[in-house]
Amino acid sequence: MDVLAGTPVEPPRPLDGPRGEPGRRRHLVLLALVALGLVAAGLVVLHGKSQAAPQVQVVLSRDGSDVAVEVVAGTDLTQLLTDFELLPVDGRLLSVSGEVLEASIDPAQVLVDGSPVELAGVQLSGQSTRVEVVDGVDRVEGTRTVVEEVPPPAGPDVLRHVEERGAPGRVERTIGEVSGEVASVETVVAPRAPVATTSRVVALTFDDGPSAAWTPYVLEILRSRGVKATFCMVGTAVAKNPELARRIVAEGHQVCNHTQGHDLGLAEAGAERVQGEVGGGRATMIDNGLPEPGYYRPPGGNLSDTVVSVARSQGERVLMWKVDTKDWQSRSTTESVLQNLREQVEPGAVILMHDGGGSNRFTSVAVLATVIDELKAQGYGFTFPIIDPP
Ligand SMILES: [Zn+2]
Repeated sequence: MDVLAGTPVEPPRPLDGPRGEPGRRRHLVLLALVALGLVAAGLVVLHGKSQAAPQVQVVLSRDGSDVAVEVVAGTDLTQLLTDFELLPVDGRLLSVSGEVLEASIDPAQVLVDGSPVELAGVQLSGQSTRVEVVDGVDRVEGTRTVVEEVPPPAGPDVLRHVEERGAPGRVERTIGEVSGEVASVETVVAPRAPVATTSRVVALTFDDGPSAAWTPYVLEILRSRGVKATFCMVGTAVAKNPELARRIVAEGHQVCNHTQGHDLGLAEAGAERVQGEVGGGRATMIDNGLPEPGYYRPPGGNLSDTVVSVARSQGERVLMWKVDTKDWQSRSTTESVLQNLREQVEPGAVILMHDGGGSNRFTSVAVLATVIDELKAQGYGFTFPIIDPP
């Protein structure tokens, strides 16, 4: 390539990838500057080898920017456009994140003196000609909106207080209808985490039953005072007293899994033994027609990560307690039980008592009516460990 004045001029170098839009724009700016410079100097660029051969005045146009060049007649148009990085670019279908989904949905055109041409084989001739490059237009895929429910965050692994259930939230996802890409996520309703209740309620829980000797008394006292409680049952006791276990449920109380055989060593036990006890208790309850327990109470309160995760994996929250009445101790009295209760009770407290196990639940039964009456006198209501928000 030569310039009449004898100064060599190279076609501008690519500033970006061959398809890069910014590169293309900067390139056009460069071209325009080159053209301006040429006009100012009164020069004409020669794109060809021989000054003696016939010349063609060519105006190259793209995106409203023109540049005038002079080339040797017979110059290949594809080569010329290649040299000036003006090869036409088809419009693409893009995903919402800018990925190319289809390379050509709007074919580019090259117009020579206003008429579209197939580039291959076109040679420039005549005295002057105008070449216009019309790129295809990119299009971004359409989107659709889906509304999804978001589950509430999980509460703590171990419950000691009555918990107000969390509530799910809702998000709106805008999704590329071709790519499936998520363009945006908007929270419509934030999920609500479960919280320890501040209401003046307590949850009575009874462990180690059902017991043919003692549970009927407990049920009768609860019924007479209109109180519902949670019974943490041992699988072997359920198998021995299935009718009684079902009566507990029929009277409106909830059930809780207290293992198959009341193994006090589960905190140190391996996964297999934990699975046998925790899974076994649940299976025995279900096999005997009880609802699926939503709580797991560890014998002796003995916990390990394995115990917690096995219980959780079968859908049971670990249910500990805030108030230990120590009614299970052989030396306990109605007075000692009431004393423990008065010292420890607070709104939301889970209260531990017993309706089975051991040799004698006389104290538990003897004190229960007073426990309920005292708490009622203090303004407490009775509920289950997990409740709906007020
Ligand atoms: Zn127990």
